[in-house]
Amino acid sequence: MGSPAHRCRDIERQAGYLHPEQCAPPPPRASSHAMWFIRDGCGIVCAVITWMLVFYAEFVVLFVMLLPSRNLAYSLLNGALFNSLAFLSLASHFRAMCTDPGAVPKGNATKEFIESLQLKPGQVVYKCPKCCSIKPDRAHHCSICKRCIRKMDHHCPWVNNCVGENNQKYFVLFTMYIALISLHALIMVAFHFLFCFEADWTKCSTFSPPVTVILLILLSFEGLLFLIFTSVMFGTQVHSICSDETGIEQLKKEERRWGKKTKWMNMRVVFGHPFSIAWLNPLATPDYGKAEAYQYVV
Ligand SMILES: [Zn+2]
Ligand SMILES: [Zn+2]
Repeated sequence: MGSPAHRCRDIERQAGYLHPEQCAPPPPRASSHAMWFIRDGCGIVCAVITWMLVFYAEFVVLFVMLLPSRNLAYSLLNGALFNSLAFLSLASHFRAMCTDPGAVPKGNATKEFIESLQLKPGQVVYKCPKCCSIKPDRAHHCSICKRCIRKMDHHCPWVNNCVGENNQKYFVLFTMYIALISLHALIMVAFHFLFCFEADWTKCSTFSPPVTVILLILLSFEGLLFLIFTSVMFGTQVHSICSDETGIEQLKKEERRWGKKTKWMNMRVVFGHPFSIAWLNPLATPDYGKAEAYQYVV
């Protein structure tokens, strides 16, 4: 293990910063049952925009393409698939936004708490000077959440939350379902243009041809943009899960202090064990088989 003096976040990790007497006692535990929600104006606006974009796609797909269609089987099949993907995307978004990403209890770096840990000589605990918490290994402070987050990957304004140890599954599912729903919408728009340009427009859409074309072009633009954005994000997330290195750790090129596991093991740490269909279900809370809450760097 290298000297802590070589690490980027040393300023927060030096033992000299530990002044427990400056920390207020932790808030009562009852607040931990309250729903997690970050009151950040920019994040709330982005999250609302995300939902509105899904509803816009829903509107165009249903009222411009599927309901006016003469082919009932085509409409039913695509309607069921599109609505299922929309539901899964929004459910993943909601869970990513309203799940505690792995926040370290605030203000727990009190003298009494540190004494109660009964540390052995040579053991060092790191305190975050910003939120007065004892910082477990691989935790980082987020200035928007104003908390230290375990295995923080990044703060995502689109889900108005940090992506960390406890909500990464929902975030990965969110990117995956948005990529799939965008692809599905693009395929349907392509079919619609293909079949309706040759046929009489009045049979294809209840809206006038110019309005129909504008609505479809906007949907294609939205679908293409989000297909690219979310599939890149999905790939990056899966890569960082498999290599067990968070976005922040990759960015800071932090020295690896944790054991190496197989890719499959790393996936199970995020999605729960054992492998099951629940991996794809945003409503299922993964069984993490929790590791130690605090890991100390000796
Ligand atoms: Zn902090
Ligand atoms: Zn955050």
